[in-house]
Formats: sequence, C-alpha cells, structure tokens
Amino acid sequence: MASFALVSTIMPRGAGDHPQTYRLALTIALTAALVAAIFGALPIAVLIAAFAVPIVYIVYMYDVNQWEDQPIPVTALAFVLTGVLAAGFLGLLKFFGWLAPPVPATDLNGITVGGPTLSGILIAALLVPIVGELIRQIGPVVLASRPAFDDLMDGLTFGIISGVAFSTADTLVRHWSTLTGGFVGANDPGAWASLIFLEGFVKPLVIGTASGIACAEFSGLGKGYDGFTGRYVRGLIEAIVANIAYAGGIYLLAQIGNPTLRIMLQLGWALLVLAVLIIRVRNVLHHGLMEAALEASAREGVGSEAGVGTGDGLEFCGTCEMPLLANSAFCTACGTAVRVRAKAGRPLVTAGTAGAGAAAAGAGAAGVAGAGAAGAADQGQGQPGTGEVAEAPPPTQTTDAGGPGDVEPDPRDVFFDEEEGR
Ligand SMILES: [Zn+2]
Repeated sequence: MASFALVSTIMPRGAGDHPQTYRLALTIALTAALVAAIFGALPIAVLIAAFAVPIVYIVYMYDVNQWEDQPIPVTALAFVLTGVLAAGFLGLLKFFGWLAPPVPATDLNGITVGGPTLSGILIAALLVPIVGELIRQIGPVVLASRPAFDDLMDGLTFGIISGVAFSTADTLVRHWSTLTGGFVGANDPGAWASLIFLEGFVKPLVIGTASGIACAEFSGLGKGYDGFTGRYVRGLIEAIVANIAYAGGIYLLAQIGNPTLRIMLQLGWALLVLAVLIIRVRNVLHHGLMEAALEASAREGVGSEAGVGTGDGLEFCGTCEMPLLANSAFCTACGTAVRVRAKAGRPLVTAGTAGAGAAAAGAGAAGVAGAGAAGAADQGQGQPGTGEVAEAPPPTQTTDAGGPGDVEPDPRDVFFDEEEGR
C-alpha cells in the first residue's frame, strides 16, 4: 500500500529489524480514532489524530537509538519547543478569528454569502505557511548546529519531528472546541473519518517531510553542518512552497458545500502534495543513509583495517563530501582518488568499480540502509552520471570494503558531483 511506503520513507532505519511494528501502531491508532469518531467520542478522535504520528515517531527514534544518550534535549527542542511556539502562534490567530475555515458560498436571492475572502487566503495560504516554517526551523537548526548531530540524517529527522509537533498543535488549536465539547452525536461519521485521516495522518507527514528537507540542507554532507547556505535557503523555500500548496488547496476546497466531496477532494490534494515531498525526501535519504553507513564503516574499521574510532579523525571526500574509510586510496562513494584529488587540471576519476565498493560497504555496515538507498536512487535520480567517468582506475579493489562482483553496480550510484547529487 502507498501509505506503507510513506512510513518506510520517514522511518528508514526500522524497516529491517521489525518492519511491521510502526505500521501496525499507526494502523491501530487511526482505527481507534475512526471508531471513536463513529461512536461520537469526537474529543478522543481528535486527541488520537493529533498525537498518533508524533508518538509513534518518537517511539521509533528511541527504538533505533538515533541519538544514543541525549534523547531528552532532542525531544525537548525539536518537539516541545516547536509545539509550544506553534500553539502560541496559531492560538493567537484563532483568538482574532483569523483561523476559521471559510464558509461555503451560498446564494441567497442573488446575494452571495460566504466564499473565500482575500484576508482568509492571505492568512491560510501565506502567513501560516511562512511563519509556521520559520517556527519549525528554530529547534532543528539549534540542534543540528551541535557537533553530535551534524549528519544529514539528523537534520532530516529533526525537521520531521518539528513538523509533526507543529501539526499536533495545529490540530489541537483548530479543534479545541470539539476537544472540550465532550461526547456529542456524530453528525457525519464519513466526513469525520476522512478528516481524521487528513489531519491525523497526511497533514503531519506533509508538514514534517517539508521541514525535514529544509533541515537536511542545513546539515548537509561532510564535516560539520553546512549552515545557512544557498542550498538551505532553497530547501526552506521548497518547504514553504509545499506548505502553501497544501494549505492553499485545503482552504480553497473548503468552499465546497457537500462535506463528503469536500473532504475527499482535500484528501486527494493533500496526498498529491505529499507524494511530491516523499519523492524528494527519498532522494535526500539516499545520501543521508549512505553517509551514515560510510561513517559507521570508517569509525569501526572494515575487515582487518582499523577504524578511525569515535574521535575527530574522520576524513571526508573533497569531491562528494562523503566520509572516507581509513587509509583508503579511493572515495568509496564516488571513486575519486583521495591522494591525487588536490592536483589541479586533472580530470576527476569516477568509476563503476568504486560504486560497487560503495554499495558493498553500505550493505555491510547497515544492510537495510544500502537496500533502501538503492531504492531511493531508483525513485529520485533520473540522470546517471554520464560524462563524469573520465578515467577508470585499475580494477583492483583498493579497500577491502567488500568483495568485487557480488553487488551489481548501479550506474546511478556513481552520480555525485558538487551538487551532492541532490
Ligand atoms: Zn567522494
């Protein structure tokens, strides 16, 4: 199912160990929310919709032990800080009545009542997406600036956590009256069911993946974090545009009078925006997972070769910014000869054999990661690195990262350049 592919994209590391756990948890949570809505327990339905994805995601974080010993500051900054700021911002808008969904246009004896308003569109499709995205960047950027969390994967995950936190606050603020209204009869279970799917499942993923893309650009590849670069600005704009598309579409479709049709069209639009974001995230993920796998191999050592340990000794390729294995003569990711890379004017060496080595190393260090990365490459990158193969190195393996020939080289894995292939 499509939704399962979504789950494995935002939770890449859990896929190998127990692939069903988180999917099952999400399925149970959403089913519980639907049952609650059908039986009229709308406050419970709203609560589950607001917290299901964030809780499952945070449990996943602890489970894969992503930030070994510092889960509390990570959770506090990325989740609670964003949630509180978002609740304050959205609560303020709601207090002034600027958050109300538009009233469907009705024709009363030739006088049109309701319909979209200019201020409504400006607030829903411009103010909230832009200010919201800036709110969502604060916690992750502070976190990703710390040396312990400077990997691409860290940035991506911080952004997703921050996004789902914002989504939780958004759901709670918008449905506050339902939340405090107690048990009421369900007037339209079908509409409520879809609303829960939209707000409980699709909305957090749209907002989360969009913020994740921007935060991943902040972290970047290579040593340390990239910071406020042009790439980060581009990622930030991408995230804001995705949120404008999502929120603007939801706002305009809210004009439709028929509630079931309205919700269905909103859901369809949201899934479309999410699909584009997921393709983008898979592309980012491909590089993040490869970086993580190579760093693990470099630190632990491969075969008889000792690793660089946990200290500062990790070196990075000058061309693709991927971590280098200790004492290797070639970059495992892009095949650039490490010892000669400083010589100006000489064409950079890129070769398929090195790509095979990279795939083997990735598979060895984090079996799932390699497979996921290959899948991501198939999805995200259309263009193989043609024209970059200038000169093939001797076919001997210069590192014992993995036996040659046991992994089919994917030409698209060779695609790394100054743009980091993203
Ligand atoms: Zn390289």
